Parts: sequence; C-alpha cells; structure tokens
Amino acid sequence: VIGVTQHFSIEEFACRSGDPYPVSNLDEFDKRGRTWLETRLLPLCATLEIIRDAAGGERITIDSGYRTLAYDDRLYRLSAKNGDVAPATSSQHPKGRAADIRHASLSPQALHALILRLWDDDKLPFLGGLGEYENFVHLDCRPRPADNPTHLAQWTGGRKSNVA
Ligand SMILES: [Zn+2]
Repeated sequence: VIGVTQHFSIEEFACRSGDPYPVSNLDEFDKRGRTWLETRLLPLCATLEIIRDAAGGERITIDSGYRTLAYDDRLYRLSAKNGDVAPATSSQHPKGRAADIRHASLSPQALHALILRLWDDDKLPFLGGLGEYENFVHLDCRPRPADNPTHLAQWTGGRKSNVA
C-alpha cells in the first residue's frame, strides 16, 4: 500500500476496471513538468484529509476515484437516461482529480453540508467542484476559473452509484 497522505493510498483511487491510478502521467498544464501524483492526487488527498479531520477522524471510503475514459464513457451511457452524468470528456474522474466518497457515520447530506461549511470558511484551498448525490458526495480539485477564483462548481445528481 502506497500512501499519498496519512489516511489515503494510491490503490484506493484505482479505476474499478482494474486500471491503476496513472501516477506518472505528466500534467500537461503544469509548467514545472510534474506528474498527476504531485499535481492532482496529492491536492485531492490533502483535501480529503482536511474533511476527514473535520468530520471526526472516521474512515472516508473512496467509492470511485480515477476512471479510465472507457469506464467513464460506459457509466455515461448506462445512466444517460438520468441526464446527470458528465460525459467522459468533461468528467474530472478520468483527469484524476475527483473522488466520490462516503463517510463511516455521516450521511452524504451531512457530509456535503460539512464540506460546504469548510469551503465557506476558506479551509479547502484545492476544492474546485462539489456534487451532492443520494448515496455519495463527489468532490474534485479542478482548477478554479482564473477570472473567478472563488467560484466553486456545484450540482446535485440523482445517480445511486458511480460503479458499474
Ligand atoms: Zn464523481
């Protein structure tokens, strides 16, 4: 098990298809030539640590982290009738910046409210997107708009799961 931060490992972010998180992908947007591990997974896990701590230190489960384009596209097609899945080309999961999470004792609704409070208190510097679902919370560390750096992308979705 390879830790990213104290409570989260690279393995937890593997695609459900079996493909590992692509730690050594070079980040095409990073001027310093760093990898996804450094520019994407680390900020995501740092965000999760802050949330984990604020939520009482109990376990946070990663339902779905990295998704290959093929896996994400299959999810998209399976639930397209609900209209609440970002197409793989715009999803943050294939970009390695997103996690769908559950908390050991908080409901997704309570977890979502707690994350929003942390955001409002300026405690989540890397957060870029937050989605509320019935059975999980989506969060991601997409870059926030340069002309609107305090903007958080927010939505609610009806899907039960991002595992298929
Ligand atoms: Zn998600």
